[in-house]
Amino acid sequence: MSAKKTAVVTGAAGFLGSHLTDRLLKEGYRVIGMDNLVTGNVRNIEHLAGNPDFDFIKHDVTKFIYLPGSVDLIFHFASPASPIDYLQIPIQTLKVSSLGTHNALGLAKEKGATFLIASTSECYGDPLEHPQKETYWGNVNPIGPRGCYDEAKRFAEAMTMAYHRAHGLDTKIVRIFNTYGPRMRLEDGRVVPAFIGQALQGNPLTVFGDGSQTRSFCYVSDLIDGIYRLSQSNYHEPVNIGNPREMTVLQFAQEILKHTGKDLPIIHKELPTDDPKVRQPDIGLASKLLGWEPKVAFEEGISRTVAYFRDFLAIKS
Ligand code: UDP
Repeated sequence: MSAKKTAVVTGAAGFLGSHLTDRLLKEGYRVIGMDNLVTGNVRNIEHLAGNPDFDFIKHDVTKFIYLPGSVDLIFHFASPASPIDYLQIPIQTLKVSSLGTHNALGLAKEKGATFLIASTSECYGDPLEHPQKETYWGNVNPIGPRGCYDEAKRFAEAMTMAYHRAHGLDTKIVRIFNTYGPRMRLEDGRVVPAFIGQALQGNPLTVFGDGSQTRSFCYVSDLIDGIYRLSQSNYHEPVNIGNPREMTVLQFAQEILKHTGKDLPIIHKELPTDDPKVRQPDIGLASKLLGWEPKVAFEEGISRTVAYFRDFLAIKS
């Protein structure tokens, strides 16, 4: 029998799930990746084909999860994560973080495994506190178009804490703020792939509203490092992981034009319902608890991401 620890990653073919899988393999884990490929893509894990420490199971985690053998650590990362997805597949979005979280927690209980849930800054909704600390309870519209994601993730946090309190399960909750990097879906509608794709293809950049709303962007390797550290910690309440460098969406559009060397028009489109006006993580807790802080500068992360999409578009055409 292998002496390696076994980790399960749901959503392993997604943007974050695939980077997390790479990190776990590097840390010496055996990884079982699960995905139903609704928003994930096997292209994100094809480099792992033939790796004896990696297995992939195509499975919808809203259905009962059966796995033989021992499991040490479960990362529940399966979920659509783009506002366009929430509009197109709201019921799957609700189910994966409610029924899917229940099944993944049930598996953790059965195996005596540690459980880590990918939660989100969307738990804070359109925040009335800025920057957002973990102690803030949020300002979420439960019945708006983003409610399916926000409320399902809030339910997932509640369910995770209930398993921790009622069953003594070792659980962790990460609240992920806007993250970017290679393997994002070009067409997923989120602002990073949208603007980079538009710029590289010579199209106008579509800023929603007047572009004064703010976001704070974290490069994927920094996020994964924070999550890995959290998984090894003894802390059970939510922890924000993100990069506090905040900018307006309009400034972000100008940065993308600069980094792609393009001179293209910026056009304005209607601001989506309930689009948060500000978002910036307070990472004091992660820094104190995990000794973590982001390392990749915005300029560096964006140039790596632009290079990825340049390659991707060349492959496609
Ligand atoms: N946004 C934009 N143009 C686009 C896509 C997004 O101006 O083509 C804006 C969106 O309205 C939001 C911000 O960019 O204010 C970030 O949107 P994203 O979909 O990436 O994720 P969110 O942070 O809203 O979950």
